[in-house]
Amino acid sequence: MYVTGIDIGSVASKIVILDEERDVINYVVMPALPSEESASTVFSKALEDKSLSRKDVAYIVATGYGRVNVPFANKMYTEILCHAMGINYLLPSVRTVIDIGGQDSKAIKISNYGRVENFIMNDKCAAGTGRFLEVMQGVLGVEFSKWGDLVAKAKSTASISSVCTVFAESEVISKVTQKVPLEEIIAGVCESIAIRVSQLAKRLPIERDVCLTGGVAYNKGVVQKLGESLGVELLVAEIPQSTGALGAALMALRNYKALKN
Ligand code: ADP
Repeated sequence: MYVTGIDIGSVASKIVILDEERDVINYVVMPALPSEESASTVFSKALEDKSLSRKDVAYIVATGYGRVNVPFANKMYTEILCHAMGINYLLPSVRTVIDIGGQDSKAIKISNYGRVENFIMNDKCAAGTGRFLEVMQGVLGVEFSKWGDLVAKAKSTASISSVCTVFAESEVISKVTQKVPLEEIIAGVCESIAIRVSQLAKRLPIERDVCLTGGVAYNKGVVQKLGESLGVELLVAEIPQSTGALGAALMALRNYKALKN
C-alpha cells in the first residue's frame, strides 16, 4: 500500500509517493495548471510512471497554496508544516528552514522532531520570491542553470538598490545598457533576493543548521549569496522543490497508520 503527498504551488505541482517503510517510490514536478487540473494531472503521471492505480494509494494529503483544489485528498495541511516534516526526514540536523517558492518566502524554526516552533512569511511582496528571479531572467535571457557558475566567476557584485521588483527590473535593464558584465548583474540580482530573505529569516532568529527548500534552491547563485548574507553554510536537500510534497506524504503515512491501528 502507498500514500501520497501533493503540493500545488503557484508555479509548479509536486507529488511524492511513499511506501509503508517511508521510502520514496516516485516524485514528479510539473508546471502548475488551472485549478483542479494540476492535482489530477500530476497524480496520474506519478501513478503511470510506476504502473500503479489509484486503489494502490491508501491516503492522500494536499498542501501548498492550491491545496483546496485537490478534491480527492483525505486531508490538507499548510506548506509550513509539510516543509518542516519533509526537511526533518531529509536533513534531521536542520533547525531553520528557508523556503523560497514562486510567490512567497518563509523562514521556519523547527524542533529536532520536525515540529514547527515559529515561522515568518512574506507573501506580500514579489521581491523575495521566485517571481523576482523569473522577471530578471526574462530581462537577462540567461537560464537559471548557468547562474551558479556566473555568480562564482563574477569579480564584483552589481548593486541593485530598488526594493520593488518593478523598479529593480528597470535598474537591471539600465545596467545591461551600461554594459555592466552579465555575471556581475546576476550576482547583484542574487544578492538582492538574498538580502530580502535573510532579513526575514533573521527575525526568527536563525538557529543552525539552516537549509533552503523550494524551487529556488536549485539556483546555485541564490544559494551562494544567501549563505553569505546569513553567514552560514546553507544546506540544500535532495529534491528541494519536492520537500513540501514529501512532508505531505509523511503526514499521509502517519494518518494512514493511525487509522489502521
Ligand atoms: P511554488 O510552490 O510557488 O510553485 P516552487 O517551490 O515550485 O514554487 O518554486 C518555483 C520557483 O523555483 C520558480 O519561480 C523558479 O525561480 C525556481 N526554479 C524552479 N526550477 C528551477 C531550476 N531548475 N533552477 C533554478 N530555479 C528553479
